[in-house]
Amino acid sequence: MTAPTAMVVGAGIAGLTAAYRLAQRGFVVRVLEAAEAPGGRMTERRSGSIVFRTGARLIYPFPGELSSLIDELGLRARVRPAPHVSLRCADGREEFDLSLSVGPHLLLTGALPVAERLRMLRLLPSLAHARLRVDPDQLATAVQFDSRSMAAELSAHVGPEFCYRWVEPLFRGARNWNAEDVSPAFLFATSAHTLGAGPPLTFAGGIGELTSELAKRVRVECRTRVLSVIEKRTTCSVHVESHTGHRETLHSDYVVCATEGTQPATLIAAPPAAARSFFAGVRYNSLGAIHYSLRQDVVALLKVFTRRSGRLLGLFEQVPAASASSGRPGLYVQAGPESTEAIRADPERRIEPVLQNDLLALFPSLEDQVTERVEQWIEHMLPVPYPGYARTVREFEKFMRDSPQRVHYCGDYLGQALVTGACATGARVAQRLADQIARQRGSNTSPSSR
Ligand SMILES: Cc1cc2nc3c(=O)[nH]c(=O)nc-3n(C[C@H](O)[C@H](O)[C@H](O)COP(=O)(O)OP(=O)(O)OC[C@H]3O[C@@H](n4cnc5c(N)ncnc54)[C@H](O)[C@@H]3O)c2cc1C
Repeated sequence: MTAPTAMVVGAGIAGLTAAYRLAQRGFVVRVLEAAEAPGGRMTERRSGSIVFRTGARLIYPFPGELSSLIDELGLRARVRPAPHVSLRCADGREEFDLSLSVGPHLLLTGALPVAERLRMLRLLPSLAHARLRVDPDQLATAVQFDSRSMAAELSAHVGPEFCYRWVEPLFRGARNWNAEDVSPAFLFATSAHTLGAGPPLTFAGGIGELTSELAKRVRVECRTRVLSVIEKRTTCSVHVESHTGHRETLHSDYVVCATEGTQPATLIAAPPAAARSFFAGVRYNSLGAIHYSLRQDVVALLKVFTRRSGRLLGLFEQVPAASASSGRPGLYVQAGPESTEAIRADPERRIEPVLQNDLLALFPSLEDQVTERVEQWIEHMLPVPYPGYARTVREFEKFMRDSPQRVHYCGDYLGQALVTGACATGARVAQRLADQIARQRGSNTSPSSR
């Protein structure tokens, strides 16, 4: 019996995991990646002397697929706790300490009214439920928290100050989401599992160690952009363009589309109606960030901002030389959600002009201090888990399970907006494809349901 072939489109953590698991199950796999190097939003790039992350900073210590891969690939000894930096929140004229973790210490914070601190206890049943019943790698398991916005839910249960002074600045700084735009499904799914789980993690050589290790074990062809995928009865045609502009058509039994969730709508020709309608509802936010290399050392500082602060910045970080991967002191800033439209209005997507006033207010010697800078525009930062989205993911996953296809999908938008969630979708899609083939071989029928 000949081995089935699979083409994976996209070499982020989801696509690389899918490729690795498919190869283990006997598939002949090729990964096609548009960028110059694998890793997607889980790696680093260099520009001059500045080394910067393409996306993820840290890994939540959930015991899922990503943790299994770390062990299988022999990377456990390379895992490190992510560097701890105290987090400050600026809310207008006032500043206070914020904590990333959920726990009894929250009851003692002076930054919230006493009544709201006590009402935080009302969240305990939801957190306990999420701990027992929700998989932190699968947003679709948190549908019970998905009916209204995080702002509405937290304001009703605890109070508006808890939402706007505590939770929202963390979300704006880490995720660039505002509390009205997302459901609390992400919050409950993740925070319930971080309780007592230990610190967030990274690797000794940076966040990209896992994706580079995976990329060594599968065939990855970079600078190869997939233009379209056509699913036929017995095969898939994949139209690609190389960096030299050369175009060709490749063939494969199966395709795993592991791109950001905004791509399948245009990449996959004539998808089933259920896929078309699901992809029409996938939304991502964007992010503008700037990395600076500085002449003189700085003290460690990590600050996030409420909307009432009036800042366009979502996050401001001073990185001392001792903790910088380049060994040079630096600044890292992220534009907040309100700046996105202004950046997008500029055809060159320049970020500094939009943030200049805030930057000079927070770091007046910027112009004298800067030796190098890199502006980073991330068009597809994170899938936005708006109220109702978890339910649509659950329905689409059911459709994909029940109706065998040649084109399959994985990526953070189907799992969770985290590297752990994206990774888990890669493993699930490999398992589903293997099961599909086993069933077909058993019944000897065609995989196309159309
Ligand atoms: C700024 C930022 C901070 C984050 N912080 C964290 C964090 O601290 N912790 C955490 O867990 N998560 C974090 N995340 C989220 C996490 O990085 C992502 O959820 C995860 O890496 C997504 O993986 P993926 O494989 O689904 O997608 P991606 O990594 O985006 O992979 C998709 C790949 O497909 C390729 N591609 C797209 N179109 C084509 C095409 N037509 N042909 C060929 N290739 C194509 C892309 O180039 C890309 O390499 C962060 C993300 C960002 C942007």
